[in-house]
Amino acid sequence: MARNAHGPPYAVVVFDCDSTLSTIEGIEELTASDPQIAALTLEAMEGRVPLEEVYGRRLELAGPEAADMERIGALYQSTAIQGAEEVIAALHYLGKSVRIVSGGLLPAVRPFGRHLGVPSEHIHAVDLHFDAAGGYVDYDRQSPLARAGGKLELLRALVPDQDVALVGDGATDLEAREACARFIAFTAVERRPEVVAGADVEVDRADLAALLPHLLSAAEVQQLTTAAGDRFSGLVARIEEGHR
Ligand SMILES: [Mg+2]
Repeated sequence: MARNAHGPPYAVVVFDCDSTLSTIEGIEELTASDPQIAALTLEAMEGRVPLEEVYGRRLELAGPEAADMERIGALYQSTAIQGAEEVIAALHYLGKSVRIVSGGLLPAVRPFGRHLGVPSEHIHAVDLHFDAAGGYVDYDRQSPLARAGGKLELLRALVPDQDVALVGDGATDLEAREACARFIAFTAVERRPEVVAGADVEVDRADLAALLPHLLSAAEVQQLTTAAGDRFSGLVARIEEGHR
């Protein structure tokens, strides 16, 4: 079925996590000292090898423990992109459904997403299994997010027949474009030319306020402007910053 691409408004806004809501790649942080894992990660992110070929291998090499997940969760939070929390609050204010769909690890992505105001049931990533001492046992091998095309598959199942806008930086985000009315390449952290080439819009400013003109209709931006208590006035003022 042909993709129904169109401009705002959208009922659902989906964010990637790594290099989109935060400047880091969680799995890289976990394994930064291992060049073998770093090479595998890069190949997967650039779409040169299918994700499922490297996903389990990378985790076996890294053996992430529960304590590592706490550390990465805190790191996501301390490296959040400017405006992440405010933009999510504004989208909720406008009655939109906000989701995080990530190929990262759920025990780290979930606390970060919760901190940004996204409900747990709207945070999708790959879960891990730990033993009683918090040691790594396995990852959720059933998760579509650990394989190529998984974001597309998940979005089609989660939000069928809804107007979805997706924001992301990676090859797996681009794959999910088919389920979306608009795919925005967010390139302030990582700019991948093949992803930009397939995107409807590119946003390269390291402030998620810059997404709003591409996610919202003019009437919706106006609603933020007139929200009680000037709640979103700072955010609205930053929409056009850097583009004047
Ligand atoms: Mg990403």
